[in-house]
Amino acid sequence: MSQNQQHVGQRDPRISDAAIERGRRAYELDRSHVFHSWSAQRKLDPMTIIDADGSWVWDGEGRPMLDFSGQLVYTNVGHKHPRVVQAIQEQAATLPTIAPQHVNDARSEAARLITERLPESIQHVFFTNAGAESNDHAVRMARLHTGRHKVLSTYLSYHGATRLTANLTGSLRRVGSDQAVDGVVHFQPAYTYRSAFGSENDEQESERALAHLRDTIEMEGASTVAAVILEAVPGTAGIFMPPPGYMAGVEKLCREYGIVLIIDEVMVGFGRVGEWFGHQLAGITPDIVTFAKGVNSGYVPLGGVAMSDEIYESFAETPYPGGLTYSGHPLACAAAVAAINAMEEESLVDNARRIGEEIIGPRLREIAEKHPGVGETRGAGAFWAVELVKDQRTRERLAPMGQAAPVMGKMMAEAKSRGLLLFTAENRFHLCPPLNISDDDLRFGLDVLDEVLA
Ligand code: PLP
Repeated sequence: MSQNQQHVGQRDPRISDAAIERGRRAYELDRSHVFHSWSAQRKLDPMTIIDADGSWVWDGEGRPMLDFSGQLVYTNVGHKHPRVVQAIQEQAATLPTIAPQHVNDARSEAARLITERLPESIQHVFFTNAGAESNDHAVRMARLHTGRHKVLSTYLSYHGATRLTANLTGSLRRVGSDQAVDGVVHFQPAYTYRSAFGSENDEQESERALAHLRDTIEMEGASTVAAVILEAVPGTAGIFMPPPGYMAGVEKLCREYGIVLIIDEVMVGFGRVGEWFGHQLAGITPDIVTFAKGVNSGYVPLGGVAMSDEIYESFAETPYPGGLTYSGHPLACAAAVAAINAMEEESLVDNARRIGEEIIGPRLREIAEKHPGVGETRGAGAFWAVELVKDQRTRERLAPMGQAAPVMGKMMAEAKSRGLLLFTAENRFHLCPPLNISDDDLRFGLDVLDEVLA
């Protein structure tokens, strides 16, 4: 049992009084002045985190918790990775900021390391500060490239919270801020467990979902459709793996109709599913890949749009009408260079695949068999969902859509008291530990999950 595990549920003696005091003050100031995302401000009781290291965080009372949340699914190299911290410190001491119109070595090297891991046809990166900005610019590029206007995205997706990306988002998160953005058209995703097409297996689901997408394109008029945007593996909306053949089928449809295929890798890019990029699981070649989060494990905000040579050519002679003050910020890019190099040298992508195949997957299958409240467990690498139901046979959700927070919150609190920080979405737990979590910690976390479900 690790030292951190030994201190679960109590104040860790290694945490100082001063750190606890700072945490208390931070909480008071937060409740007075900080406006939080996606929340009714006065109903919030956010958790204070006063320290973090590797796969663990310490709450405001100095209690250690194993972090299966990945924060918001981005701490791929874990917390406080020494190489990434040092790279940021060194960059800050050398050249802390430089505007995007100038060249700097951190940005150039980050672009090289990123494109090296993408298909040969994708050799150019436009840097942004986040996932939503990446998708926003990707759509703008696709529109300018094709001279078409519409963008197709699925009803079960999350693409960001800017005006355009909130409207691209399919799931409930769109509804609160839906401004019926012109040109966004939704279609049904391929999701065998909750098939919109009544499919009984992956093969049927893939075939029917593709026929539906073809219909959607034709009914909208292919000559009006600039892009299809898809998450490589839909994350926030449920971590459901596209059935075999589906992504390749979407790629083929896009080629047939001259539509730009944008693969949103914001959540799964950089190793999360046991490949550098999620689309590699399906062996497809997108026109545009958007990324953020895992590119530097979120140590400094960074995102980007990686585009094919063909898209690049549209802006080779005609200026691209867009830019960002902090595009390719040196601190963020230095963090990306260090994070990618660390992931390569520490074989973190292979490790994610291994823990998914050997530890998480098998254990979750056991958990699903044991607990009648578990409808389905699914995922790959270090990216898994445990979907809770009232009835395994009918697949009725544990709580109706949009109403699961109280019951999931209770289970999450129980997990915290046993030393595990989980991420919940609707009627699901999402398990997204760092890719370098130790096998022993991983097993500890899965034991806690098992106990909580009991
Ligand atoms: N796309 C996907 C697939 C995401 O999961 C997210 C965030 O969770 C985003 C886009 C938006 O990223 P950001 O919050 O950095 O704007």
